[in-house]
Amino acid sequence: MSQLDAIFDYIKSNEQTYVDRVIDYVRHPSISAQNIGIREVATLLVDHLRGLDFDAKLVETPGHPFVLGHRNVDPDKPTVLLYGHYDVQPPDPLDEWVSPPFEPEVRDGRIWARGIGDNKGQHFAQLLAIEAHLKITGTLPCNIIFCLEGEEEIGSPQIADFVRDNMDQLQADLVVTSDGPLHESGQPVITFGVRGVVSFDLIAKGASRDVHSGNFGGLVPNPIWTLIHLLATMKDGDGNITVEGIVDPVIPPTNLELDAASRLPLDLETVMADLGLDALDGPLDRPYWDRLMFHPTLTINGFHGGYDGPGSKTVLPNRAIAKCDVRLVEPLTPDHVFDRIQTHVAKHAPNVEVVRHNGMLPSKTPMDTPFAVTIKKAVQRARGMEPLLYPTVGGSLPDYVWTKILKKPAFVVPYANADEANHAPNENLEIVRFIDGIRTGAALLYELGQKV
Ligand SMILES: [Zn+2]
Repeated sequence: MSQLDAIFDYIKSNEQTYVDRVIDYVRHPSISAQNIGIREVATLLVDHLRGLDFDAKLVETPGHPFVLGHRNVDPDKPTVLLYGHYDVQPPDPLDEWVSPPFEPEVRDGRIWARGIGDNKGQHFAQLLAIEAHLKITGTLPCNIIFCLEGEEEIGSPQIADFVRDNMDQLQADLVVTSDGPLHESGQPVITFGVRGVVSFDLIAKGASRDVHSGNFGGLVPNPIWTLIHLLATMKDGDGNITVEGIVDPVIPPTNLELDAASRLPLDLETVMADLGLDALDGPLDRPYWDRLMFHPTLTINGFHGGYDGPGSKTVLPNRAIAKCDVRLVEPLTPDHVFDRIQTHVAKHAPNVEVVRHNGMLPSKTPMDTPFAVTIKKAVQRARGMEPLLYPTVGGSLPDYVWTKILKKPAFVVPYANADEANHAPNENLEIVRFIDGIRTGAALLYELGQKV
């Protein structure tokens, strides 16, 4: 029997204990937005890591602390940084929970509790994987940096500075995050990148006050029309972004990325039926995954101005606002794109004010990075099936801190079921997925240890 099989057996014989222990863990609230239980849970984790012979501590930030632990076993082996977050979303609305969010319950093969999927159950699985190695072999197959933040659910405001300030303590060969869901079929997933984002407002102003559309219409400029004309210069009727300098620099996908995307399961009819659509947005010739992975978008998030109450009101409003975001792919940055937007607005509607909001860089790990093979092999061994490989996901996460600040390959290997109801009432984790997560974590460490 291989060492990994012995570890899998050990995990199997401890399933019930693992469920009891993760329940004990998620019983402690750690709500970052409300500063409830944060320090208690962070301290609990430091103690847990010390129990596994990690050199562990809290790292203070202007916000909630990071939990950081190191265990070095062999300088010739790779070092993996396991990232996760110990904070959870507020549990509201409480009356929609079948069982209270911080009184975990097992029903229908699932554990129900706030944070069980996002993300406490997932990083607890990593800790149990480490423990299983220690029990069976007395040591670890590779070096581990365990890094948990306490502000992921409020947008990770400190993580970039944390990585910059603690660079010497984060020197890993790769970063693995276990967060988010598996494919809805239960098939395992490895994600190599995320899109970035930049948000901004366009604000148009007309007269100093709202005026009568009969007495002033035809004389006084209408800020809503100003924004409509401006927005029409930013994206054409076929769905192409026409702001100069946003599309041109985009790096086209590699053959590996195109190939991986083409293998992803897609039931377009079901997706369209679910959304009540009979056509997708333009450009019409663009494949489904290309849209989400390889192209920037320009979205109007909201458009407000004038009267929208019952009946009619013949008013000529004096202000209009469009709230927008651009999702970014490599090599676009929030700074570059915002600069292009400003230049475009200055040319087409110089009196429109442009206000910038948050931004986040995109991130991508090359699919042919050598660790990709190791991770694929580990997932395959733990789950007995091929993982789906996502070159990029459409949304935005601060993955760039690993690929652009730490400059290391970064992978997301999620453990939760697709219907985990994260951020919602009745958050849950299927017990079989939790155990698969421990197996995957164990296999990952094992396969990294095989790599020299
Ligand atoms: Zn979350």
